Amino acid sequence: ARKFFVGGNFKMNGTIESIKAIVKNLNEAKLDSNVETVIAPPSLYLLLVRDQLRPEIEVAAQNVYDQPNGAFTGEISVSQLKDSNITWTILGHSERRTILRESDEVVSNKTKYAVDNGVGVIWCCGESLEEREAGKTIDVITNQLAALKAKIGNDWSKIVIAYEPIWAIGTGKVATTEQAQEVHAAIRSWLKTNVNDQTAEATRILYGGSVNEKNCKDLSKQPDIDGFLVGGASLKPAFVDIINCNQ
Ligand code: 13P
Repeated sequence: ARKFFVGGNFKMNGTIESIKAIVKNLNEAKLDSNVETVIAPPSLYLLLVRDQLRPEIEVAAQNVYDQPNGAFTGEISVSQLKDSNITWTILGHSERRTILRESDEVVSNKTKYAVDNGVGVIWCCGESLEEREAGKTIDVITNQLAALKAKIGNDWSKIVIAYEPIWAIGTGKVATTEQAQEVHAAIRSWLKTNVNDQTAEATRILYGGSVNEKNCKDLSKQPDIDGFLVGGASLKPAFVDIINCNQ
């Protein structure tokens, strides 16, 4: 069985004070031990969070570079993450693909470098509203998956996939359970055909996009939804209710 996974992507939000309050709230909460929880604060606060957060919650960066340490101004390395006990990174988020112009190739290179060097990757994919309305959703997602597979091959053991339809991110327009399940099933079926049965069976596929404490329960009951990548609601105390949505 796949362990349910809930990620909190703080994006470029928070202050020392507000992030300490989020950590305190998580430290004091009763959390479902069957859920793997990972939070991704801005890089400036990674060490603060790792120092203060209860050890069973993992910490993720929101980005990492695909080269060893060196002359790469502004970037953070995989070895620096590991040195700081940061065991995950988000990569391929639509905000980085669009605003920061990261291509499939850039995302795939970073993903390969991270997993090869021992950092787990929450790898994001998703279609725009225009692509959905043109009936291209599954094509867009499978193209993103194919670009990743071309780089990483058949070892997906350190990857968690997050399906995040762009039209649902930060809009309050959550995908319906049917819309999400359809894409998640298509991703799993793509893995079965293009990687192998074991990877299709074992890989967690998260849904992201306007997840909150109210809509998470129904989504979590879908057979191919193995967790969430939460943005805005991960900054609020109700994030605990999302982690505990199966109880
Ligand atoms: P929201 O939950 O704020 O819609 O953001 C989703 C997201 O982009 C998580 O990575």
